[in-house]
Amino acid sequence: MKRIALLSQRLANQIAAGEVVERPASVVKELLENSLDAGADRIEIDVEQGGAKLIRIRDNGSGIDREDLGLALSRHATSKIANLDDLENIASLGFRGEALASICSVSRLELVSRAANAAEDSAWRVQAQGQEMHTDISPAAHPQGTTVEVRDLFFNTPARRKFLRTEKTEFDRLEEVVKRLALSRFDVSFQLRHNQRSIHHLQAARTEQEKQRRVALVCGPAFVENSVRIDIEASGLRLWGWVSQPTFSRSQADLQYFYVNGRIIRDKLISHAVRQAYQDVLFHGRHPAFVLYLELQPALVDVNVHPTKHEVRFRDGRLVHDFLFRALHKALADVRPEDKLAMQVSRDEGRVDPETGEYLPPSTGSAAGEFGGQEHIRFSPLSYGGGGSAYSRPVSDSAGVSANHIAEQISAYAELAKDEEVPPLGYAIAQLHGIYILAQNRAGLVIVDMHAAHERITYERMKAAVLSEGIRAQPLLVPLSIAVSQAEADCAEQQAAGLFELGLGIERVASESILVRQVPVILASADIEQLVRDVLADVREHGSSERIRNYQDELLGTMACHGSVRANRQLTIPEMNALLRDMEQTERSGQCNHGRPTWVLQSIEQLDKLFLRGQ
Ligand code: ADP
Ligand code: MG
Repeated sequence: MKRIALLSQRLANQIAAGEVVERPASVVKELLENSLDAGADRIEIDVEQGGAKLIRIRDNGSGIDREDLGLALSRHATSKIANLDDLENIASLGFRGEALASICSVSRLELVSRAANAAEDSAWRVQAQGQEMHTDISPAAHPQGTTVEVRDLFFNTPARRKFLRTEKTEFDRLEEVVKRLALSRFDVSFQLRHNQRSIHHLQAARTEQEKQRRVALVCGPAFVENSVRIDIEASGLRLWGWVSQPTFSRSQADLQYFYVNGRIIRDKLISHAVRQAYQDVLFHGRHPAFVLYLELQPALVDVNVHPTKHEVRFRDGRLVHDFLFRALHKALADVRPEDKLAMQVSRDEGRVDPETGEYLPPSTGSAAGEFGGQEHIRFSPLSYGGGGSAYSRPVSDSAGVSANHIAEQISAYAELAKDEEVPPLGYAIAQLHGIYILAQNRAGLVIVDMHAAHERITYERMKAAVLSEGIRAQPLLVPLSIAVSQAEADCAEQQAAGLFELGLGIERVASESILVRQVPVILASADIEQLVRDVLADVREHGSSERIRNYQDELLGTMACHGSVRANRQLTIPEMNALLRDMEQTERSGQCNHGRPTWVLQSIEQLDKLFLRGQ
């Protein structure tokens, strides 16, 4: 047996580096956090070879005093907290005082800094090289702020270097880190260069529009165009940001940014709440996209639970979960036809002041005044809970055609409905190929996917019915006998009570045969055999041990699909209009319960473009 000895400081740092410094991206994260903590509002990031060769970060923050330079590179040396009280009210991104020590133990690091209060010519440089931790301080030239240069990452730890992936992969991860931080601090400008090429140049964003532009630059314009801007406050919690409409879902959970008090977080509780909020409206296996900011008192959340600080612990997790769920659920439910219209039509009719929630008319023309359909085509701030703050505002965008132009088109169409209001989805004019309803509203042409829309309505109705008085069922004149597998029959027998609650009266009559005695009234005209087979398949997939109630919504979804108008069914104009009116009344009618859109608008102005009119 060997004897026990204390680790040398160098070795201890290298071991700690394993935790904090995994790859170039993690170095960038730590350095950027330091710059932000130092109050910088301009940060430049230069990277070579994916960061493995060089990472240089220059900021205009408060800088470091000469006397503190040596300490900055030591382990457990920090200027950010001094006692336990500070730890419990943490406001800075860093506080563990180990990043610089860890990084310089596995790289060649140079730090040049001039403190805010120092004289013009008194900048100082300190260098450290992996093993050799002796730090020489020498004079240097530097404007106020700090530049940290990290060269040859893992040059002295070949085992770790081997784990680095290709230059592109490492750079992608590093860029992701920059994006995350850029979305956390709109007031700071970020510049990222890779091998001397400019990748991002994000100006400081102050107005709502500038912030939105940054989100579009970081997340892509499509995200912003298909998102709802929310801002909700209740019980001391505030949630604001952008959430994608369910129709803009992704196959990967790669466009999800969640900040708690400005700190990016990946937290189970949060993702669960978000998933639940989207559950009803998202296609299976698809992921929502969002950029969300949760703000609460620092004392109500513990950030010191993980070295990379990606997880947090909420004092009242239940409260946070319910707040998130309800806020998002409601925001999504409120994306009704009129909101979507507002989003498409109101691009240039003004915007909502981020501070006051007030509607600001556009500077050009008087489009807002001319909007005959203001009651329907508008921003519709709604109040939430006790907070009463405006939210669920459709995203507006300054790009687009002139307000006057839209207003002209709209007023032409206002003629159509001089004395009565045109409803948001307008009036049906025809059915196309037995699949789509064409309708005309103030803004232009509305195209509705008949089946998808009907399915959503049926589903929401069934859900509402289950909640209030239960689903009304009607007995079949002639009970329907269906041949099934033994497993299916077992399942039907075991789950009979649960299925009965959903309006399905099923009885097992033989080892491989069941009898359907009653079905929900709403589904009376559906293909009952197929319906029952699908429902049984669903129930079996969930395992018979679980109570049907837990996935009732899913079963209702399956049933609603069967109960909805099929393609190729001819509808009369009154029937189509009834469907349009139903859509306007139904929550989440913007997409069917598989997350596909139920309708789209082709505005007159878009149609004009197609025909190059007025160009
Ligand atoms: P922590 O950020 O957890 O305090 P670090 O090892 O990252 O620990 O940094 C140590 C200290 O060095 C910080 O507390 C801060 O005082 C100083 N420091 C590091 N980077 C900068 C910077 N860019 N500007 C000003 N001070 C810095
Ligand atoms: Mg730090």
